[in-house]
Amino acid sequence: MYTTNVSRFSQGHLLLSAAAPAQFPADMGAEVAFVGRSNAGKSSAINAITQRTGLARTSKTPGRTRLLNFFELGTHQRIVDLPGYGYAKGSEDERMSWRPLIDALKPRVSLRGVFLIVDSRRGLLDGDRALIDWAEPPLRIHILLTKADKLNRSESAKVLRETRTIVGDRATAQLFSVPGKTGVEEARKLLESWLDDRVFAPQ
Ligand code: GDP
Repeated sequence: MYTTNVSRFSQGHLLLSAAAPAQFPADMGAEVAFVGRSNAGKSSAINAITQRTGLARTSKTPGRTRLLNFFELGTHQRIVDLPGYGYAKGSEDERMSWRPLIDALKPRVSLRGVFLIVDSRRGLLDGDRALIDWAEPPLRIHILLTKADKLNRSESAKVLRETRTIVGDRATAQLFSVPGKTGVEEARKLLESWLDDRVFAPQ
């Protein structure tokens, strides 16, 4: 059993960046998608959870922001870093250009669930709700309310309560902060359990 605090994901690396479904890695093993509004703290969350500083920075390099970045964390265990949504600028076409890509991701047998990254100061916005609708059951959703260090105790308790009320049984939610180290371990444990979930794994 895995018992230390050191991330078992320390060997994590960028497997590939896909611009088209044909470039996705083989649909075997397990993968968890990370999604959220631009600037919500997705890259920081991926880096903190995997304890791989700089791992998700790759997805920010010019030309890669519209791609699906697959990070391999273990044998046939992957994080899929989806493009951030909610840019203030950019045409509707541009914003939705990656929609076919994520639609192609949804039916993959490997896909165990979605980590939805939400800035705790903003709470769930339209794009986040659209994403929750997109991720139809049985796809699981877990919400990280990031930058919790920016809120005081009662504010963070309030946003957590409100978020849980909105999503009901459809998703779970937790507070998260990289500098405050809030919920990082909790998120890592959940990610590990989803990646270890072999219920739907091919023989
Ligand atoms: P992404 O666009 O969703 O990948 O967001 P980033 O991970 O690049 O983070 C956007 C900004 O928020 C950066 O300036 C980060 O340093 C900051 N940030 C991310 N997570 C936290 C956090 O937990 N607390 C605070 N205070 N800032 C954070």
